[in-house]
Amino acid sequence: KKVYLNGTIVDRENAQISVFDRGFIFGDGIYEVMVQINGRFFYEAVHLARLDACLKKINIEFEVERLKNAIPKLLEASELTDKDCLLYIQVTRGVAPRQHSFPKNIEPTVMMYAQAKKLPDINTVNASVLTLKDFRWSRCDIKMTSLLGNVMANEQAMQNDRYEALLVRNGIITEASHCNVFFVKDKVVYTHPANEFILDGITRQIVLEICRALNLEVREEGIPLNRISEMDEAFLTGTSTQIASIRQIDDHYFYDGSNIGELTKKLQSEFFKLKNLNDQE
Ligand code: PLP
Repeated sequence: KKVYLNGTIVDRENAQISVFDRGFIFGDGIYEVMVQINGRFFYEAVHLARLDACLKKINIEFEVERLKNAIPKLLEASELTDKDCLLYIQVTRGVAPRQHSFPKNIEPTVMMYAQAKKLPDINTVNASVLTLKDFRWSRCDIKMTSLLGNVMANEQAMQNDRYEALLVRNGIITEASHCNVFFVKDKVVYTHPANEFILDGITRQIVLEICRALNLEVREEGIPLNRISEMDEAFLTGTSTQIASIRQIDDHYFYDGSNIGELTKKLQSEFFKLKNLNDQE
């Protein structure tokens, strides 16, 4: 149980930061999560590029390149080299007396940990989800550590024994508390456009690539809540979730509530193939 903290690898108990860290005070930081599959991080370059892009959006200066040497060292110290695992990375603006505006000349706080995680080949979940008002702010494209809106939405799903909460902004389904959402209607695949109302998931991007490779028609359009019952299939995507079928949204059931849609199944099997390719490169 090791933690990478600001250039050194320490035991978990000794990984300590100041209470004046802006990550703690304001949630002023960016995070990233990726998984190692068959000895390689899946879409590592894309995850690190998103981390870099998000840091730039909030003017935290940190060279993401520096993580490239540190990650193998952390995995080795964690006895996870080549093992299936999840890597959490967090970069906050750093430590300074509390003030809202960005303090000058402070060093970011950089933290990473890895934990063993074996994802299923294919996610066999057929999820029941609920819908909630998307009460988050309007910069959901920033993968920030202040996740209170997402945490509250997910808690409401858990309280109601639902797998996820789909979020609805101005009548349109944006995404879920920690996943992106897709719909299928007449063999056309729909997902919300990657604008400031969603986090553009790497899994979302991979699924879109797969759809294009399969010559499926894709429309990056949000689906209105009141048109859910017209849809043929729905599914969630995310790094740990991979592709999870949705069987039920609120009181609406897809199929008879037990089957997984044809296209969802197809995308799941293509996604599985991609993960195995990860072995060979
Ligand atoms: N949307 C939100 C709000 C998320 O927090 C996440 C992942 O954490 C996703 C979507 C899925 O992103 P990815 O596929 O990169 O894991």
